[in-house]
Amino acid sequence: MDFQYWNEHFEKMPRRELEAWQLERLRETVGHALRTPFYQKRLTEAGIKNPASIQTLADLQRIPFTGKQDLREGFPYGFLSIPREAVVRLHASSGTTGIPTTIYFSRDDINRWTSFVARCIYGTGCTKADVFQNMITYGLFTGGLGFHAGGEEVGMLVIPSGAGNTTRQFRLMQDFGTTVVHATPSFLLHVESKMKEEGVRRDSLALKRAFAGAEPYSEDTRRRIEELLAIDVYNSYGLSEMNGPGVAFECQCKNGLHLWEDGYIAEIINPDTLEPAAEGERGELVLTVLCREATPILRYRTRDLTGFMPGPCPCGRTHRRLYRITGRSDDMLIINGVNVFPSQIEEVIMAMKEVGNNYVIEVEKDGVLDRLTVKTEVTPESFMDDTRPLNALKEKIRHTLQASITINPRVELHESGSLPVSEGKAQRVLDKRAKDV
Ligand code: AMP
Ligand code: ZN
Repeated sequence: MDFQYWNEHFEKMPRRELEAWQLERLRETVGHALRTPFYQKRLTEAGIKNPASIQTLADLQRIPFTGKQDLREGFPYGFLSIPREAVVRLHASSGTTGIPTTIYFSRDDINRWTSFVARCIYGTGCTKADVFQNMITYGLFTGGLGFHAGGEEVGMLVIPSGAGNTTRQFRLMQDFGTTVVHATPSFLLHVESKMKEEGVRRDSLALKRAFAGAEPYSEDTRRRIEELLAIDVYNSYGLSEMNGPGVAFECQCKNGLHLWEDGYIAEIINPDTLEPAAEGERGELVLTVLCREATPILRYRTRDLTGFMPGPCPCGRTHRRLYRITGRSDDMLIINGVNVFPSQIEEVIMAMKEVGNNYVIEVEKDGVLDRLTVKTEVTPESFMDDTRPLNALKEKIRHTLQASITINPRVELHESGSLPVSEGKAQRVLDKRAKDV
């Protein structure tokens, strides 16, 4: 196989040089961090008063972990390390309304991020001859603008189609000869079933590849999409706290995701003991961003479960590979690519006085997409024979939830005391999607 490298120097850098580069960048990043209100305090307490406190990469272990809660508490500017005037963009995590976790970028930060995304795209064999349709949500979510910029950097013709509206997506594909798409795996499956439904012929499309990410999916799902659409599917991993897409990506070997170690330091820990996982063991991924000055984040607990694959990759890249992410160590749900915490749903429904004490959140497959159903009990006073006020309440809950979590749920109202009560820890989330990852 002929491999192509966007930045061969870095992608094939010998490990020792790569680690020396990481150490330099880590020191620099600690310097940025010490200029933020949050880390000023956190690092000083840990005895790290200046970048020179970091002598070797092992000193990373002296830095405390950063969690999502820390980021929320630091909202809005607690993690900002450069003057506000030097910030050119912000993104926010899709899973958080109320208090979002916000990431700021300088012009240089955007350029560095873009070049990592370009590296991922180019490494799958794309060139400037490709036409790239970015079928993912634009906006505060990083997947839209992140891939958009990376695609342009490679020189592809980028179509910012955004997510949804399959009829329009097919038209764009046909009109402009789209060869590559980016979407969530569930949307790609949806596209395939719509193709059949709308009678779109495969030979009317020039599709060759897809980048699929933002949510966990199994190897079987990848294979299914590849076979049904007759394309190559590459796994794309990223998170807004670490810029967004471009953190780890599959090369043409499609066996594990190269984590770009010149931009990020990755650790695997045991999520219960918080100790480093043994060599080759799986656990929770912890990441430190080395390529961003505006919002330095050190040892971020991603909650994503994975591990390092052993051995080198035939493509010649020296950056270690992660196994496909199989799930999370917290209760965050990813529903059609959108992050939702059960606590966000609870906050909304429990604020309504007509709602009783018990509720159940159910997620299941509806065809290829995910469907969220929120079942809540209604106080005896509100549960009347007249269905009109109940329908109005249902609509109010649906509407308020949608405004909060951006997903349109189905809402079911139940009589007080009728939903199952578990004896131990309340089992409020029922994720019925096949756990085949
Ligand atoms: P966001 O910050 O909204 O971009 O969401 C990031 C989260 O989406 C990650 O922490 C993962 O839980 C999930 N995610 C992103 N890409 C993948 C992927 N390729 N496989 C599994 N989960 C993913
Ligand atoms: Zn490789």
